[in-house]
Amino acid sequence: MFSQGQSILTRTWAPTQDSPGIRQTYDVRLVVPQDLTAVMSAEMLTPNGEPAEGGHAFRFRMRHPVPIYLMSIAVGDLVFGAVGPRTGVWTEPTVLERGLYECADMETMVRTVEALYGPYRWGRYDVLILPPSFPFGGMENPRLTFLTPTFLAGDRSLVSLIAHELAHSWSGNLVTNAVWADSWLNEGFTSYIEGRVTEALYGEERANMARVLDWAGIQEAIATIPANSQRLHLIGDRGADDSNSAIVYDKGALFLRTIERIMGRTRFDAYLRSLFRPPRLPANDDRNLPRRFPRPRRARRHSA
Ligand SMILES: [Zn+2]
Repeated sequence: MFSQGQSILTRTWAPTQDSPGIRQTYDVRLVVPQDLTAVMSAEMLTPNGEPAEGGHAFRFRMRHPVPIYLMSIAVGDLVFGAVGPRTGVWTEPTVLERGLYECADMETMVRTVEALYGPYRWGRYDVLILPPSFPFGGMENPRLTFLTPTFLAGDRSLVSLIAHELAHSWSGNLVTNAVWADSWLNEGFTSYIEGRVTEALYGEERANMARVLDWAGIQEAIATIPANSQRLHLIGDRGADDSNSAIVYDKGALFLRTIERIMGRTRFDAYLRSLFRPPRLPANDDRNLPRRFPRPRRARRHSA
């Protein structure tokens, strides 16, 4: 069993408002059958479960306020394998070995994003490899990315998926679009960072290959979709579930690369680091953590 909250699906199973502009903390106690394990996008307080009527109980805590589309649950015949001191893989026993092989670079990836954009602020970074019925590539649930098993290529050639979901720990989860019409702020920034991680870890050639493919996808989309669907800001009540990924993800990232080229990488990186730093707090202080994407300031009114 697994849940999927983005974009407005958490409201179907939890009595809460789930606009991305609203942040919440949560505490959860789940009772599941004795032979199953529960995991969540949260700190796991009882890794081995504890006695409970009807099975055993798992308790979880998310102490950082998060937009509630990021709250997620999975229950199954799950095992865990460590990749690094704060990274690891949850999955079914028959998948674990392949999962650990594919995710071998995960700890290095976390260090790579930290070197670029500041500390990873969520404690652990684990992934959960789900059965093929999981209908997405990946979902950036905090502390526990949910992944499709189709990224298990056997040669680590599809690990940019992990780079993308990990990057959401900064863009999307720390700083979030206030409304889904601006989902390019989550996905464009994340796709941009994904490219930078690929470049830092696997070299410029591989990163550029992905960028060329993205460019081709953008051209293809622009040739086939109406002009008002080509904008980054989605018009009307269209949201993240009803958008073209070549625009929201790839054109968003391309726009940011354009700014990077104009400003210079050093200055653009400094801007991004400042974006992910909690306001008025030193870099190593995680109080008042995630916040909404800053809205543009109102123009100052001049007296007549
Ligand atoms: Zn994404």
